[in-house]
Amino acid sequence: MRLPEYFKYGEKEPVISFEIFPPKTEKGMENLGTVLAELSGLGPDFITVTYGAMGSEKHRTLEIASLIKNRFGVETACHLTCVGASKNELDHLLSDIYESGIENIVAIRGDIPSGAREFIPPPDSYKYGYELVRHIRQFEKDRLNRSGYFGIAVGGYPEKHTEAPDMETDIINLKHKVDKGADIVITQLFFDNGYYFDFVKEARSHGIKIPIMPGLMPILSVKQIERIISMCGATIPSDLRKRLNACKDDDEKARAIGIAQCIDQSKELLARGAPGIHFYVLNKSDHMKEIIGALPARRFKYSGGKFAANNL
Ligand code: FAD
Repeated sequence: MRLPEYFKYGEKEPVISFEIFPPKTEKGMENLGTVLAELSGLGPDFITVTYGAMGSEKHRTLEIASLIKNRFGVETACHLTCVGASKNELDHLLSDIYESGIENIVAIRGDIPSGAREFIPPPDSYKYGYELVRHIRQFEKDRLNRSGYFGIAVGGYPEKHTEAPDMETDIINLKHKVDKGADIVITQLFFDNGYYFDFVKEARSHGIKIPIMPGLMPILSVKQIERIISMCGATIPSDLRKRLNACKDDDEKARAIGIAQCIDQSKELLARGAPGIHFYVLNKSDHMKEIIGALPARRFKYSGGKFAANNL
C-alpha cells in the first residue's frame, strides 16, 4: 500500500512506522531477522530501510525491504539517496525497486561527504532532494506509464537543516520538494515537541498540506545519542541533558531515561494531533515493546478521506 493511503482512513489508530538500517556484516543480518520478527509483532503500519551514506550497503536496502514485505507481511519503504548517483544509476535502482514490488520510497538527498564545505555534484547527477523527487515522478511517467505509482516520503527538519541559513529558507526549500510530488514528510529526530509544533505551523503557513510525521529516536546510551546529534543537528533540552549527564557511563539508566522521554514525547504528540510517529529504532526491538505498549490505542479521526487531524 502507498504511504499516503495510511493517512486517509475514516477512523484509525495513529500511523506508526519504524526505521531500520542495513547492517554491515552477515552476523548483523542474522540478528536483524530476529529483530524484524519482534518489530513486526508490534504492528507497525510500515517499516522503512535506510540507504547507506553515499550508497554504501545499497543492495542490502532492497534485500531487507523485500524481506520485510514478503516474509513478515509488513508494508515497507526503501530509502533512496541521490548524492553521488548518476541519473542512469537512479533509473536502475528505481527499476529494481519497482520489480521487487516495493511501492514506497523515502527520497533523500543524502549526507554530503564529511569535511566537504560545499557539495559539487558529479556531472549527470543531482544536488538536492527535490531533484530526486522530480526524477522519480518522471521515471514513473516514462518507464512505468503510471503517474503516482510510488508513495514518496521526504525529510523535514524541525530544528532546521544544518546547511540552511535559516528556517524560512529551509521551509521554502521543503515546499519546493513537496511541489515536485512528495506525499508525506518524515521529520528529523527532536527532543522538544515545541520544535515540531512550530515547524508544522510554519509549513502549513507556507502551503505545505501533506501529513508531517514526527520522527523520534529513543535514547539508548549517552555516547550513542551524542554521536548522532553531532551529525544531524538536533539539540537536547537542558533538563534532559542534566539527567543524562548524571549517568554518562551507565547505559541502563540512560536507557530508562530515554524510554521515558520518548513515551512522554509520543503521548503529547498524539494527544495534540500528530498523524502518527516514525521511530528511529536503531535495529533493536526491546525498547520499542515498552514504548508502543505505553501508547494510547486510538486517538483521532480523519474525515472525508482528507488529512484532518487537528490541522497538524
Ligand atoms: P534536501 O531537501 O536536498 O535539503 C538539503 C539542504 O539543501 C537543506 O539545507 C535545504 O534547505 C537545502 N536546499 C534544498 N533545496 C535547495 C535549493 N534549491 N537551493 C538551495 N538550497 C537548497 N541519509 C542517508 O545517507 N541515507 C538515508 O537513508 C537517510 N534517510 C533519512 C530519512 C529522514 C526521514 C531524514 C530526515 C534524513 C535522512 N538522511 C539519510 C539524512 C539526510 O541525507 C541528510 O539530512 C541530508 O543532509 C539532507 O537530505 P534531504 O533530502 O533532506 O536534503
